[in-house]
Amino acid sequence: MLVEAYRLIDELENNKRLSVNKWLRLIKAFNKETAAYAAEKAIRIRREIYGDDVYIRGLIEISNICKNDCLYCGIRHSNKNCDRYRLDINDILECCKEGYRLGFRTFVLQGGEDPYYTDDILVDIIKAIKTDYKDCAVTLSLGERSEESYKRLFDAGADRYLLRHETANELHYKKLHPDNMSYNLRMNCLKSLRKIGFQVGCGMMIGSPYQTDENLANDMKFIEEFSPDMCGIGPFIPHADTPFKDKSAGSGELTCYLLSLIRILKPNILLPATTALGTVDAFGREKGLLSGANVLMPNLSPVAVRKKYSLYNNKICTGEEAAECLVCLKGRVKNAGFHIVESRGDIKLI
Ligand code: SAH
Repeated sequence: MLVEAYRLIDELENNKRLSVNKWLRLIKAFNKETAAYAAEKAIRIRREIYGDDVYIRGLIEISNICKNDCLYCGIRHSNKNCDRYRLDINDILECCKEGYRLGFRTFVLQGGEDPYYTDDILVDIIKAIKTDYKDCAVTLSLGERSEESYKRLFDAGADRYLLRHETANELHYKKLHPDNMSYNLRMNCLKSLRKIGFQVGCGMMIGSPYQTDENLANDMKFIEEFSPDMCGIGPFIPHADTPFKDKSAGSGELTCYLLSLIRILKPNILLPATTALGTVDAFGREKGLLSGANVLMPNLSPVAVRKKYSLYNNKICTGEEAAECLVCLKGRVKNAGFHIVESRGDIKLI
């Protein structure tokens, strides 16, 4: 069994593809030994391309107002206990100013699907950031929009777009989302973003409710075929004010194993050690880096709203993951054997 898993990991390294059935066997083979074997390869591969560099992104959570009702998410529309806020252009530029001073050269604007952010408003925000900070990249993570809308945001200067596919299995998608949301629409959004020219990121939660090993195998096959520039994966963590409040959290160790497999599959991919990974394990982000991740996304939102952007319970948002404590984070990254660099951190073409 162990030998077979090692062989599959070698095959993945050599061929950069596996059949769904082999992906499934590799996922089922997850244990300490296979994880260590995959991590060693992943680290070697990332060092060949990115050296010890770790890219940082300043995460600005621009709004927790959302028209959607994803069953897992703490800022879902139906959550009446959520204290709603939104940032305007001045608030966002203030965050960028502080972020630039701290050394960030990528700003990620993430939020719920808040109708306030029309194309016109977003275009103004993007142009303002790109005018003031010419050496910075702007990443958007604002959910599903029309292709025309994505095009306008791209033309305004946005560089990258993160839209997790959440699951590459339509039946599983239906268990995580209300009836009015559509698996095909989400997948089509990803295709539009790619077509328009964004650097695109997809991704999924690990251990989301009803997720099977088969679902994860489909996710890996999807990542293989879609070949994103970035991939965000993190453990599912329940939120008390959602229908999934009693579901158990996903595993940090399995997340790390999958980070390693994604690195082996796509050697130059931009792969964050996510906040969710840092939440289920105090050393989650270090472990993520040691599994092949090469990106960190510290929180740059105004301190007053940070606790309100609560996708899941106990989200780390006042400690070392916060942008202000970049000095602490730099120390932790250094202890793990890497170093944070001050650059846009674009994908390296190989
Ligand atoms: N509205 C945007 C941003 C969503 S928040 C969009 O639709 O893309 C970013 C990611 O957080 C989501 O894509 C989801 O994968 C993750 N997330 C949401 N709730 C979570 C939870 N309870 N546990 C872990 N991750 C969660």
